[in-house]
Formats: sequence, C-alpha cells, structure tokens
Amino acid sequence: MSIQYICSECGKKFDPKTLVFRCDCGGLLNLEKFDFKFSKEDILNNEWSLFRYFKTLPFDNNFSLWKDISMGEGLTPIVPLEKDNPNILVKVDYLMPTLSFKDRGAVVLISKAKELGIKKVIQDSSGNAGTSIAAYANRAGIECDIYVPESTSPKKIKQISSHGAKVHVVKGTREDTAKAALNAVENGEGFYASHVYNPFFYQGTKTYAYEIYEQLNGKIPEVLIIPVGNGTLLLGCYYGFKELLELGLINKMPKIIAVQAQGCAPIYEAFKEGTHSVEAVVNTGTLAEGIAIAEPKRGKQILEAIKNTNGEIITAPEDKIVETRKYLAQKGFYVEPTTAATFAGFFNYYKKNKVSLNGKVIIPLCGAGLKAD
Ligand SMILES: *Cc1c(COP(=O)(O)O)cnc(C)c1O
Ligand SMILES: [Zn+2]
Repeated sequence: MSIQYICSECGKKFDPKTLVFRCDCGGLLNLEKFDFKFSKEDILNNEWSLFRYFKTLPFDNNFSLWKDISMGEGLTPIVPLEKDNPNILVKVDYLMPTLSFKDRGAVVLISKAKELGIKKVIQDSSGNAGTSIAAYANRAGIECDIYVPESTSPKKIKQISSHGAKVHVVKGTREDTAKAALNAVENGEGFYASHVYNPFFYQGTKTYAYEIYEQLNGKIPEVLIIPVGNGTLLLGCYYGFKELLELGLINKMPKIIAVQAQGCAPIYEAFKEGTHSVEAVVNTGTLAEGIAIAEPKRGKQILEAIKNTNGEIITAPEDKIVETRKYLAQKGFYVEPTTAATFAGFFNYYKKNKVSLNGKVIIPLCGAGLKAD
C-alpha cells in the first residue's frame, strides 16, 4: 500500500520508505486517510488476534508477513469490575503478550517496518512501549535499541533486554531519554519505531475501538475513561470510533474522559486554561510513571480529540493510587500503579460530581502489576 505520511502542520506528504519521522517544518506526521470498506461481515472470524480487523489496517490485501509477527495480541475481555456496578466495565488490556496494551501498536508498527525492509529500529520509552517494540522486533528479525530513563523499573529493563534488545539507560528526565534516541536516529543508526512519532502505532491502538464495537454488539458505551501521557491509546481509540462513525456502524461517539497524573498534568492544565496547544510542565513526581509525560508531542491532537467527543480531562489523586491498587487487586486485578491511578481518577470524579452511572463506562486495565516493583 503506497500510503503516505502527512504533516499535521503544513500538509506536506512523505513516503514512509524515506524513513522521515517528522516534517522539515517540525510538524508531527499523521497517516494520510486511506479508504477501506468494513462491516461486521469483514471481521476475520478465524483469526484470534487484533488482525481480525485486518481490513481496517494500512496494509495491502495480500500482505501476510504479520502472521509471523503476531503473538495473538488483542481480543481482551470486557467484564464488570464488580457485581454491584454492572455499568462499570473493565477491558483487561494487560492480557497481552508483553503485559500491556502497547502490543496493539507495536505489532502493527513492526509489521509495517518489516514490510518496509527495515533492519534496525530505535525507540525510547518509560518502559512498556519499549518492551513491546523489543519483543515484536526480535520476533520479526529486526535489530532493536531501546532508550529508557534511569527511573525505569528494573523489571521492565530486564524484560526489554530479555527480548534481545540493547538497552540504553539515560540519566535525567524522560525528555532527556527522547533526545538521546532522536540523536541516534538523526545519526542514521536506525528507523524510529516511536510510539509517539510514528503514526502506524496508532493504527494498532485503534483496534481497542473495533473490539469494543464487536464485543458489545455495536452498543457503544456512554463514556470511555482513558489514561493519557503521550496519547497512544486515546488517539488510537478516537480514530477507531471516528472510523466506525464514518462507516455508519455506530451513530454517536462515546465521550472520552482522559486521566492524567496529579504530579504531571500538562494536557489537563491546557484543557482547564482553554488553550489549543499544550505547554510543557515540570514533573513534580508521581507513582503513575506510565503517564508522566511532561511534554506530550501530540498534546494539541489529544485536546482536539477530547473536545470532539464532548469529553473532559481529570487528574488522579496521588494519595489514592496505592489504596486503589489494593482495591483492584481485591477484585482480582493486579495492576501496575499507572493503571491504579486511572481508576483513582475515575472514582474521585464520580464521587465529586455525584454523577449517576446510567450508561456504561469502559476503563482499560493497561499494565500488569508484575511489571512494577
Ligand atoms: C503507555 C501506558 C499508558 C499511557 O499511554 P500513553 O500512550 O502515554 O497515553 C498508561 N498506562 C500504561 C500501563 C502504559 O503502559
Ligand atoms: Zn510540515
């Protein structure tokens, strides 16, 4: 498929083969809109991974390399959190090969890299995205360098190196880590398989929406609660539901309520101020390391997506993360602190606003507890 990147600022187009990862103007690259037909009958019923929705993905019909790369990711359960609240549904996205939802994006991005003939990928991450890219790159026979901040949990570092990737631990902040990876990419060391910059990643995370559509039999929930740092799940999910709406398969968008960490909430701040772009903040510390992104590159797009669904942004009370993690474990779900933070934010919001839960709410369990210390 000769699908092109398109600059989100100036509209200039690029061929993914050229390995550009951002526009000369500095703008982030999106994927040019590509046409596809899709209805319920197009779901591949014999495929037990997110490639069930192959028709919606940016590949040629005869592209089949993904079959050697997929590990059966996706198709995660949707279940009530507890029996007394049948409208609060969790989507257990930590039930993935590398134990986080990032496998959705990584399997599509690495399949695309394989199609492009890439020999080596570079990526930076606070942990889970790096693990995921490392696992799929290795499976695809692609060399992989992952840059992580020194604060990354030792378990995640071990997981990444176990998948055969070279791990570069970078001193300083998450942003310093991104700079180190960018330097390597600019030195021509490899293809930037970034979950932030590379729009193919979002083509994978959009399957979160297609699954909800299929699993709930087209009955779309009122509200989606989504943790947001760089916005890979949020934007993917937004694109997915937008496509479903354009395809005429649903008749309205669910409202997206994004959750940020109290100690690092640049998108929340911008939303509150009513600005169109997101200013960097200083991370004052949070247990929710998976969403502690002080300078989200796609901040503007995230704000637009939330506004277009008539949604909002809330923060997770830091002092509630530990007890919420325990609470979820008592319900049977052992999650990492970032996921506990998402629920802490949600519980706080509903209590404070005395919102009654008439419609269904879906909250993702993004990362497994065993990943954290
Ligand atoms: C990556 C991640 C997030 C946040 O995703 P973004 O793409 O940064 O918005 C939330 N929870 C977990 C467990 C993650 O791994
Ligand atoms: Zn541009």
